[in-house]
Parts: sequence; structure tokens; C-alpha cells
Amino acid sequence: MEMPAYLVKVISTLKQNGYQAFVVGGCVRDILMGNEPADYDVATSATVQEIRSLFRKTVPTGEKHGTVAVLIDGFTVEVSTFKSYELGESSTGLEQDLSLRDFTVNAMAVDENGSLYDPFGGKQDLLNKIIKSPRNEPEQRFMEDPLRMLRAIRFCSTFGFSMYPDTYQAITKHYALLQKVAPERIRGELNLILLSGLPALGIRLMLETGLLQQVLPEAVAGFAQRSIRHNKNVFEHTLAVVEGVPSRLKVRLAALLHDIGKPNTFSIDENGVDHFYGHHLEGQKMVENILRRLKYDNKTIGDVSVLVGEHMSRYPKVRNSSFKKLINRVGKHNLEDLFDLQKADIMGAAPPYDFSELDDIQAGINQILSERLPMSIKDLAVKGDDLIEIGFEPGPELGRVLDLLLEEVLEDPDKNERAILLGLAAKNTTPV
Ligand code: ATP
Ligand code: MG
Repeated sequence: MEMPAYLVKVISTLKQNGYQAFVVGGCVRDILMGNEPADYDVATSATVQEIRSLFRKTVPTGEKHGTVAVLIDGFTVEVSTFKSYELGESSTGLEQDLSLRDFTVNAMAVDENGSLYDPFGGKQDLLNKIIKSPRNEPEQRFMEDPLRMLRAIRFCSTFGFSMYPDTYQAITKHYALLQKVAPERIRGELNLILLSGLPALGIRLMLETGLLQQVLPEAVAGFAQRSIRHNKNVFEHTLAVVEGVPSRLKVRLAALLHDIGKPNTFSIDENGVDHFYGHHLEGQKMVENILRRLKYDNKTIGDVSVLVGEHMSRYPKVRNSSFKKLINRVGKHNLEDLFDLQKADIMGAAPPYDFSELDDIQAGINQILSERLPMSIKDLAVKGDDLIEIGFEPGPELGRVLDLLLEEVLEDPDKNERAILLGLAAKNTTPV
């Protein structure tokens, strides 16, 4: 097994000082699968203090868990004291460390000569594409750290593996424990599931086992709904859209959540036809709450909720000013995601697929973007200060007048001249 020089240095430093040291965890799995590991983890008999004393540059990343980041030759290696059952108890070595890892495929180690230590059959499970707890004690493993349930699904959707039946059963029994896990950790695994090669498999496993109900109860509530315009229920449609958009986080999140407003907006008219009027706007509000609860950053929350809120914006009147308003509402940086979402939404519904309106809008928007026409208040030939100079008070009234001027300029870009706009503004002055 090829090991980078900096990793060999870390291991030999530990060994020369009388400690045991092994490369462990996901990187061993990755190498056996023929993939380049993202990073390397080392397990050692040295304590955190001893690790820190041996290397010049260290960062205490998780001292509680016995982990120190060693910075060496411009790389970072996570070095951890062997995991042990009792906190504080001196560890009993490699095998116990490996037995406390989440799954057999992540519970292998390699020494500096490249010899593999695999006490729980990880290599065989890797060949058979199986996610299984070491010693086949999944219930205990999941009770210790319920996030492992979501990690099991993440490894299935990332590598196309299946869960060992006992592992799967244990999740269907203990799914509710996920409530105890910090939202940031849940978010991390959800992101990896969404960005994996098989996101639909991951979301399907989450629904089947009960985990999705813990993470996104709002989504589960509407999944059984069926519309006559669809040949699938909302769940199957949603999965098709998630898999139909490219592997970028915001658009995958938007795909997962785009129809979340449907149950709250469902109605049937006198002809027995079902409608979900305003489900995109209801969805936009719900998405903000959901993503806030999962501790996403404000930029992600804003962009994903806009994508959900605008996913029905396919049929504006084909006029330049509508396109510009759409660009302003969505934001240039979200346009590609919006079009990808809309295309996948159409593909995920019943054929025949009609992309003509979408194509018109895309063409219109590309035209406008290429002409660099004025589109937002900052493009206006007058600024707030100019209006204050002619007698406007700073405040909401000023904002209202700027909005009115923008309306005029969106309709007719020729009006974007200082004299014309000041004239229009003056007409809008509230008489004293
Ligand atoms: P990735 O490819 O995403 O880095 P990974 O398997 O390396 O996946 P990490 O989160 O980097 O996952 O963790 C490194 C290793 O630490 C894992 O392979 C596993 O052995 C162990 N591990 C990580 N999280 C847990 C956990 N919650 N419970 C038990 N063992 C864990
Ligand atoms: Mg890793």
C-alpha cells in the first residue's frame, strides 16, 4: 500500500518513541477501494499529551476524544489515542479501538509496512458491499451514537452498498434516537447523502427506516399525495427531481424540498381536480424554518428558499420587464440552479415533457443578461442622495420612490437618465 511521505513520518516518529501507531478508518477503506483518501487518520497508544510533545505543530481538535491534528510538511494528519470503552481508562489497544468504530469497512488498520489489520472482516464486507457493525452489535453501536444510523445510509448512497439485515433492523428500531444528535452533525451527513451518486437511494432508506421523519417531518407529511398531473406520488416525484439535478448542494436541497408546501395548500375544485395553489410560496416559508433548524448558513437558507419559492416561475408574460423582475428576485447566481431544478421538475412529472416555456425564459434571460440592461435599484441613473437633494426625506418613502423609478426603467431602459428620473421622482413628491 502506497503511503505519502508525511504520513510515514508521523508513524515512524511515534514508533521510534516506543508507541504503537497505525493508519486507521475511512482512509484504509478508500485505499482498498482504489480511491484517493481525502485525509489520513492515525491511531496510537500515545496519549494526547505525548502526541503533542512529539510534533512541532499540533492543534487540539478533539482532546476530549483523544484527537490531535498534527501539521506536517503542509499536510494535516488526525492522530488519536486508541479509543477505549471507559473514558479515562488507559486504552487496551488497536483491536478495541477498531471494535468501537462505526462499521466493519471503517474498522481496518494498516501499519507502516502496509500490513492490514482486519479483525472484524471489513475487507470481506467491502468486497460484498455490506455496511455492518463490528461484532454485529448494531443496536449498542447506535445507542452509543445515533448519528451512526445516518452514516450507515450515507455509506450506502455514496458507495452503492447495502446494509446488513441486522444493521437495517436496528435502525428501524432506534430511529427516534436521532433526536438526541446535534443538528450540525445531522446536516453534515444529509449533505453527503444529497451529494452522493445515489441520493434517491439514501432518501428512500431514510424514509423506510423512519430517519427521514426525524429530520424532515414536514416532507414526510406530503409524500403520499398524488396529483393527476403526475404519474407518481409526491415522494417518487421528489426522488426523481433530486436525482435529476446536478450534484450541487443548494439545488439538491431545493429539489428535496420543492414540493414541501403541497399538503398545506391542497384543494379540490368542483370538477374534482386537485390544486396546490401557492404551494411554492408556502414551501419557501417552510424551507426557511427547516434549514434554520438544521443550522444551515444564511446564504444557503436564502438561496434554497428562493429556489423553492420560484420553482413555478415558468410562465411569466413573455415581456422583458418580467424577465428582469425574475432575475432580480432569484439573483443571477441562482439562475443555473433554478433552471436545473425546473427542468428536473418537468422530467419528474408525467410525459409528454414540454420544455418550450422554460426554453423561452432561458433565452429571454440570456438575452437580457448579455445586453447588460439596468435591472436593479443600484443600476439606476439616480441614487438616494440625488433624491434627498431635491427634497426627499431619507426613509421608507425614499425607497418607495426608487422602486417606482425602477419599475419605469424596467419597462423602458431609455428612461434611465438622470434628468428624466429626477422629473419622474418630483412628480411623486408627497405634497407638504
Ligand atoms: P469520509 O470519506 O467522509 O471522510 P470516513 O469514513 O473517513 O468518511 P470520518 O467522519 O472522516 O469518516 O471518520 C473517520 C473514521 O472515524 C471512520 O472511518 C470511522 O472509523 C470513525 N468514525 C467516524 N465517525 C464515527 C462515529 N460516529 N462512530 C464511530 N466511528 C466513527
Ligand atoms: Mg475521513
